[in-house]
Amino acid sequence: MIYQNTLEFALQLDEQDPLKNFRSQFLIPQHNGKDAIYFCGNSLGLQPVSAQKFVNDIFETWKTHAIEGFFTGDDPWLSYHKELTKTVAALVGAKKEEVTVMNSLTVNLHLMMVSFYKPTKKRFKILMEGGAFPSDQYVIESQASFHGYNTKDAIVEIFPRKGEFILRTADILQTIEDNADELALVLFGGINYFTGQFFDIEAITKAAHQAGAYAGFDLAHAAGNVPLKLHEWDVDFAAWCSYKYINSGPGGISGIYIHEKHFDNKTLSRFAGWWGYREEKRFLMSPGFEPDKGAAGWQLSTSPVMLLALHKAALEVFEQAGGGAPLRTKSELLTGYLEFLINEINKSKGQELFKIITPQNKDDRGCQLSIVCKQNARQIFDFITNNGVIGDWREPDVIRLSPVPLYNTFKEVFEAGSILLASIREN
Ligand SMILES: *Cc1c(COP(=O)(O)O)cnc(C)c1O
Repeated sequence: MIYQNTLEFALQLDEQDPLKNFRSQFLIPQHNGKDAIYFCGNSLGLQPVSAQKFVNDIFETWKTHAIEGFFTGDDPWLSYHKELTKTVAALVGAKKEEVTVMNSLTVNLHLMMVSFYKPTKKRFKILMEGGAFPSDQYVIESQASFHGYNTKDAIVEIFPRKGEFILRTADILQTIEDNADELALVLFGGINYFTGQFFDIEAITKAAHQAGAYAGFDLAHAAGNVPLKLHEWDVDFAAWCSYKYINSGPGGISGIYIHEKHFDNKTLSRFAGWWGYREEKRFLMSPGFEPDKGAAGWQLSTSPVMLLALHKAALEVFEQAGGGAPLRTKSELLTGYLEFLINEINKSKGQELFKIITPQNKDDRGCQLSIVCKQNARQIFDFITNNGVIGDWREPDVIRLSPVPLYNTFKEVFEAGSILLASIREN
């Protein structure tokens, strides 16, 4: 696509956009009496218009049927979570039985590590990306300590080379190989929250397996954002949240994936709860845990139906949009346009005032661009915020902007570009 730095061009792209009607399915936050330019998908996706109705349906059933709500009506609460797994599985490229929705992300990372971090005297190391999201760091540190290891010995972090922002896949694979004899687990992000780099999940998984380790991924920034093929890539496990790109509400329910080859793997320990018990026998309330088939056997507690209702509303929008493929096509164009406009600003100023640290190759990123502001970073962020562009600020000088294909427009991207340009004049 050859982009043009004009409003007419942006409007033309909007006109041709096959997904243009989906914006009306979301509630757009307001700024000074008009729609904000909301590029914050990576922190909190927008509310689907239908979300309130889905939650109201639960209120109604609770009011009318109380406990019978678990067993009656169109969507009995007992099996409500199962209605979501088809769409969730499609989003992450898994079989239906390989996914379930439960808990929240950090909790699920711990549960996944209970199963897949099985350190032995010889194999006890965990490899992770340096500068991972803090919750992931704390999970991994505390799991290593829980098993009696010094975190310095047990955790191998891999950082970009000096002067670089992006991890080179070759360096990741080399580090796995270098630690092969002691490696128990590779636990990586799918997309790094700070740089927006989309890692080569397939290659990392392959290298981990060659080293004799398990490979798991935190897909917080990847699920609903980029195409994933967890099953085909042979990933052992993954977890993600639903409130970023999947628009299922603040603190929304998390999802997990476990490869089917592990369903009956008795060497994996797991923490058990009654909701993960074999469904047909759950209410016999017998002693002795028998897991349900598939990822569902990792559930612990009664499903939080209110959160599931929010998730269901959001997932239905994805289904209507035809799943991940059409969204990805638009996403690449939308983010590519933002990248083009930022580079135009740099060109017009004769210097790289905004340095995009997210990979240039569209296969190595999702919709997010992370932009280092070379001068007056915080003032620039405040300026764009005051002018209705909602992004995220990351210390010390990075602005993250994530145009989301379900609800953002090319016109908004164009306007954001103009506001960024104006921010330089003002600061
Ligand atoms: C957003 C995010 C989290 C948040 O975890 P919660 O348990 O949902 O608070 C964790 N890890 C990563 C990589 C994230 O991006």
